[in-house]
Amino acid sequence: MGIFGGGETMIVVMEPHAPRERVDAVVKKIQEAGLGTHLSEGVERTVIGVVGDSHTKELLRQSLEATPGVERVVPILQPFKLVSREFKPENAVVEVSGVRFGDGAVTVIAGPCSVESLEQIVATAKAVKAAGAVMLRGGAFKPRTSPYSFQGLEEEGLRHLAQARKEIGLPVVTEAMDAAQLELVCKYADMIQIGARNMQNYTLLREAGRAKFPVLLKRGPSATIQELLLAAEYIMNEGNYRVVLCERGIRGFDNYTRYLLDLSAVPVLKELTHLPVIVDPSQGTGKRKYVGPMARAGVAAGADGLIIEVHPDPERALSDGPQQLTPQEFRALMAEIDPLSRALGRAVQSTARAR
Ligand code: PEP
Ligand code: MN
Repeated sequence: MGIFGGGETMIVVMEPHAPRERVDAVVKKIQEAGLGTHLSEGVERTVIGVVGDSHTKELLRQSLEATPGVERVVPILQPFKLVSREFKPENAVVEVSGVRFGDGAVTVIAGPCSVESLEQIVATAKAVKAAGAVMLRGGAFKPRTSPYSFQGLEEEGLRHLAQARKEIGLPVVTEAMDAAQLELVCKYADMIQIGARNMQNYTLLREAGRAKFPVLLKRGPSATIQELLLAAEYIMNEGNYRVVLCERGIRGFDNYTRYLLDLSAVPVLKELTHLPVIVDPSQGTGKRKYVGPMARAGVAAGADGLIIEVHPDPERALSDGPQQLTPQEFRALMAEIDPLSRALGRAVQSTARAR
């Protein structure tokens, strides 16, 4: 059983800047009632999640409401708890090796679909950094629809990514397809991607939670928004709060695009969760010419960032060639994203801000 006993649970919202002793006293009271606590310390206020079940919960609720320093006690009716806005009203800022997601800026990750060689990944890293990306992507373990397609360079690919990070200075996100690959991926990367096909791989989600390593969690092609949030809950339930969600398109019925990029999920997610949400217009559309418009639309919809596939020579790419931008196309897109972000009162996160 998870840390929340199931069904309804509650959170205690402390008054702004409530002193530590008052927070401690509330935690003690909850623990004395035989329940657990989950602390979320924001800039302004602390929120305490009440964990578990007890027949004295209602009594405890009343007692907590009368405890000094407590502003209110709110039941969480959603099936997801730790990821919910009720648990943490302000946006979570997820930091990954100096790159920030969710702080209001537009954070851009770019790189090839797959790592194909050291030269390819270093050249791409250099180009995307020059154009304004703050994180490098590239798959070493590739979840391919066909077993006959290129499956990735595996550990060699991870080594190339680490070398590109060293030479170019961008943190790296790359996919782990199952729990057995996790340790290896964490050794080389800064952030683990849990891909669309593995969004409901519960062993992987749990292990990624235990690894306490930043996670980019992509929405499954047939997953509802609630299923995505519950997948994130698995990770957070293990005490790992560094989770970034990614909308990458769901299965539609039209063939002009590869998937149906559900941009309405962005405002819905921003309402339901405090976690950052980014958009992947590359997997989402499957076609180079639609990546730019949907990247712009993603930012306009309120996404905290973008993840975009860029390849030095997309025609020769070993995976997802038709959807990868050339470095020049990526540069042109970034030149559009910048003024668009400003018009929306935001800014593109620059490498200068990433340490
Ligand atoms: C990818 O990022 O290359 C990828 C395979 O993504 P997804 O899991 O969203 O299909
Ligand atoms: Mn891809």
